[in-house]
Amino acid sequence: MRYLSTRGGDPASAAEAIVRGISPSGGLYVPESYPIIEWNNGVRGGYLATAHRVMQAYLPETDSAELQTMIAAAYKSFDHPDVTPLVKLSEREHILELWHGPTMAFKDVALQMLPHLMCSSLRQTGETKQVYILVATSGDTGKAALEGFRDVEGTRVLVFYPFGGVSEAQRLQMVTQEGTNVDVCAVRGNFDDAQTGVKQIFASTEIAERLSKEGVRLSSANSINFGRLLPQIVYYFTSYQQLVASGEIQPGEKVNFCVPTGNFGDILAGEYARRMGLPINKLICASNRNNVLTDFFESGVYDGNRSFFQSMSCSIDILISSNLERLLFELAHRDDALVRKWMGELKGKGMYALSQSALDELKKTFSAGWCTEEDTLGTIRRIFDQTGYLMDPHTAVAQCVYERYAAKTGDKTKTVLLSTANPYKFASDVLGAFEPAGKDDFANADRLKSLSGAPIPKSMSELFGKPERHLDVCDLADMPKRVLTPILGKQ
Ligand SMILES: *Cc1c(COP(=O)(O)O)cnc(C)c1O
Repeated sequence: MRYLSTRGGDPASAAEAIVRGISPSGGLYVPESYPIIEWNNGVRGGYLATAHRVMQAYLPETDSAELQTMIAAAYKSFDHPDVTPLVKLSEREHILELWHGPTMAFKDVALQMLPHLMCSSLRQTGETKQVYILVATSGDTGKAALEGFRDVEGTRVLVFYPFGGVSEAQRLQMVTQEGTNVDVCAVRGNFDDAQTGVKQIFASTEIAERLSKEGVRLSSANSINFGRLLPQIVYYFTSYQQLVASGEIQPGEKVNFCVPTGNFGDILAGEYARRMGLPINKLICASNRNNVLTDFFESGVYDGNRSFFQSMSCSIDILISSNLERLLFELAHRDDALVRKWMGELKGKGMYALSQSALDELKKTFSAGWCTEEDTLGTIRRIFDQTGYLMDPHTAVAQCVYERYAAKTGDKTKTVLLSTANPYKFASDVLGAFEPAGKDDFANADRLKSLSGAPIPKSMSELFGKPERHLDVCDLADMPKRVLTPILGKQ
């Protein structure tokens, strides 16, 4: 299996694609083809067996037994035997809980696995340099990457997060991180600024050369890395298998997935599952007020020229959605020149437009919607009152957008709603759906517990009283310097 860059250039092996993170042409790596997988294979073995089957199909050069060991090691840190359990909310709606890993958000599904894939890929490519992983985070990727790569030999990690742009629990998780190879810095800017800064560092040959002299090479743990995307395909299959096993659907029956979307990585994994033969009717893309994707799916025009809103579903506060580029590559029938043209227009004018035929193609599979902050709070409250299920703001965005989609279209297809974070990760906002919340996140979490009865995860209560070790803040312009200093020393 070879991997093509969305912006052209030489194909790479899976291992090369994972080590590099991004292609030399600045494009993202996509598989040459989508292996077809019978959806019902792996039922008996549950999550780990399905994970093995899905990932092996994309990593043919990786030894089967080694892959199995890596998968077992990655998911033993999850606190549920199903890894990503499915909870029935109503006759038609099922919640897929993706947050049973160590950092309480769905990023763990990929970032507990990526370090294993990275080490195996380093061995396969014969890379001897230390891999320096740069991460821009809207809140959850940072902690998950720090936790995943902590003390992993041959790697070091630096996370940039938007100063004042993450929840208190998210901030604490990052600044209290322990480990000898981890580093965290806040950036004065929003997530898009931080992500653009990191991409510019990746694109700089000067930085690459200076690091190379010191025996260091950069890579990415953001969802531009194919190794991030791959583990996420798995839970589309396992949730489908669970629906069949519990008699909710007939084998082969189509289902919808509704996904709270930021960088388009999670929902794109659903599109890959569909291309691999999973019976999917619609992939519903849910956004908050940062609704650039909703407009795109309706009009075919991607227009990033708009105000950025900070919302309580902050992990999807994004205006430049990186992984959309992989979908564009398919819409362009893999014409990398056309992708380069669109991406050039996005960089130059902040916008690009699809042809009518590409838009029609897109609408066959995708639907999109967005909701306000009031809608989010109202949904958290209403679902809890009706069902006793407590959801986080991102899951509530998906729930609200799904309900409107179902009402508008009359679509009665069974739907899986992807729940991307534990509600306690956003305790203050979630409590605000019930009563005015105070300033102290931990007091709010306690109050939420007595109000809802939902258990506080151990990793959350453990944040109490841990020393804050990483309090550095830098300006956007200083990001390159911040990357180089730990390697080259102060200049
Ligand atoms: C990262 C994240 C998302 C968005 O995922 P993408 O792959 O960027 O679309 C949604 N919810 C939570 C809680 C997240 O951490």
